[in-house]
Amino acid sequence: MEILKTSAELSGWRQRQNAAGKSVGFVPTMGALHSGHISLVRRAMQENDCCLVSIFVNPLQFNNGNDLVNYPRKPEEDLALLQSVNCHAVYMPDYHEVFGTAVAQSWDLGPLEFQLEGAFRPGHFQGVANVIFCLFSQINPHKAYFGLKDYQQYLIIHQFAKRYFPETEVIGCPTCRDPAGLAESSRNLRLSPEEYAQAIEIPTFLLKIPERMHHVSFSEISIELQKIANQLPLIRLEYFSLHRADNLEKLQHFDFNIPMIICIAFYAGEVRLIDNILC
Ligand code: AMP
Repeated sequence: MEILKTSAELSGWRQRQNAAGKSVGFVPTMGALHSGHISLVRRAMQENDCCLVSIFVNPLQFNNGNDLVNYPRKPEEDLALLQSVNCHAVYMPDYHEVFGTAVAQSWDLGPLEFQLEGAFRPGHFQGVANVIFCLFSQINPHKAYFGLKDYQQYLIIHQFAKRYFPETEVIGCPTCRDPAGLAESSRNLRLSPEEYAQAIEIPTFLLKIPERMHHVSFSEISIELQKIANQLPLIRLEYFSLHRADNLEKLQHFDFNIPMIICIAFYAGEVRLIDNILC
């Protein structure tokens, strides 16, 4: 596995793949890798001649300084994990290699930018768009892989790439969960055993909604969830809402004629987690 640290090394690697006629699948990450990330890597390896993973904790997408400082970092373990699945190359740049001295740009991301995560994390998607713009410009991947756990991010990047990187196909991959049902997340490493035990009640409830939604209204489901959360002293719900899956327009009631998604953000102690279910 090639370990690339500078944009010059990255560009050399990219040119070699091009010269060899190899297609490149790209998986951008912020590290502290888990099985969710690895599912993206495996998919990229299946669908492309080679797979490049980036590990870069992008400060521009953090609206909360504590979250950035406390974000887990374990580069040695990440490298060992990527090596163990025979990933071809990993890009581990510092800030300057990604952004140079350029000032962050302001992108028109449409109405998707300001709802859900955008409403609670102002500027988050501008930070995401900036890092994706720089990474895609440097890498020019054939395909890029994103988790549907971060569904709003996936939709925004899908639209963004269509406009600015029409030759890159953006692919959404299903959410990986741990045996208790909690969506894998680097932030799960920060949960205490008590926070973890309470956090898993949320996906347990969420994952049962598709089998109940034909008999129970969304507002009844919301009330039930709030009651459950009230019994869990370490859990605080931030949002729980129903949307069209294609554009995240908010829905008040289930509409079985269209693909829908239920999105949730909650705190377990100090740790903010998000999840969703397509239905
Ligand atoms: P992150 O390192 O959190 O920025 O995530 C890097 C990529 O992995 C993003 O496209 C995420 O959506 C994706 N990802 C994170 N967690 C999961 C998961 N549990 N299942 C599938 N993909 C995930």
